[in-house]
Amino acid sequence: MGAIDAALQACLARIASACAEAGRGKECARLLAVSKTFPAAAVRAAHGAGQRCFGESYVQEALAKMDALADLDLEWHFIGPLQSNKTRVIAERFAWVHGLEREKIARRLAEQRPPGLPPLQVCIQVNVSGEASKSGVPPEQALQLAQCVAGLPNLRLRGFMAIPEPTPELARQRARFRTLAELMRQANRAGLDLDTLSMGMSSDLKAAILEGATLVRVGTAIFGTRQYNDEVNQT
Ligand SMILES: *Cc1c(COP(=O)(O)O)cnc(C)c1O
Repeated sequence: MGAIDAALQACLARIASACAEAGRGKECARLLAVSKTFPAAAVRAAHGAGQRCFGESYVQEALAKMDALADLDLEWHFIGPLQSNKTRVIAERFAWVHGLEREKIARRLAEQRPPGLPPLQVCIQVNVSGEASKSGVPPEQALQLAQCVAGLPNLRLRGFMAIPEPTPELARQRARFRTLAELMRQANRAGLDLDTLSMGMSSDLKAAILEGATLVRVGTAIFGTRQYNDEVNQT
């Protein structure tokens, strides 16, 4: 078994054990393999090991990988910051977007999603840690944005996404994720039909699953430590 295959299986085992501990179904959370900064060959290896969904944060880098891997049946998720000048290509090439935080961007994605494709699946990013530096809407504005996005054509609002501040304490990790889970319950009580909590990464996926994550985004634990360099066009 290759290193990526072994790491992928170990990650799936962590997910299964967290789902069991949470008393949720064995496959309660899907795995999104975050391949940013890693080459197409790494994605191909993960695909060979059974993985289908991949997350990318930099548009140019992602497009190069999509082209190199066009022979594979892959589902691409854009998880990076959304800039206005990148919405068209994102609407054209990705199946999912996780970091939506502005109505204006949502409207552009809705307009630019090609008619022949299924709706773009979107999650609204919520700033559950309240740090000034982090992206995402404040929790108290999330419902209003969700109602707006849910009404747009060519988009399907699936739920909420968060990247809480890193902390080694399980209890604090869980508290942040609970905020997001509570928001989804609130939105569904208000009449929305959301089914996705995109939360949990390599170091906190257990806490996220215990609080109801339905999709975890994992990079390091599958592909190894990222090295950022100038050769990758990170825009
Ligand atoms: C890079 C990234 C991840 C993966 O983080 P790891 O700690 O490597 O698992 C998850 N989500 C987002 C939004 C990211 O940018």
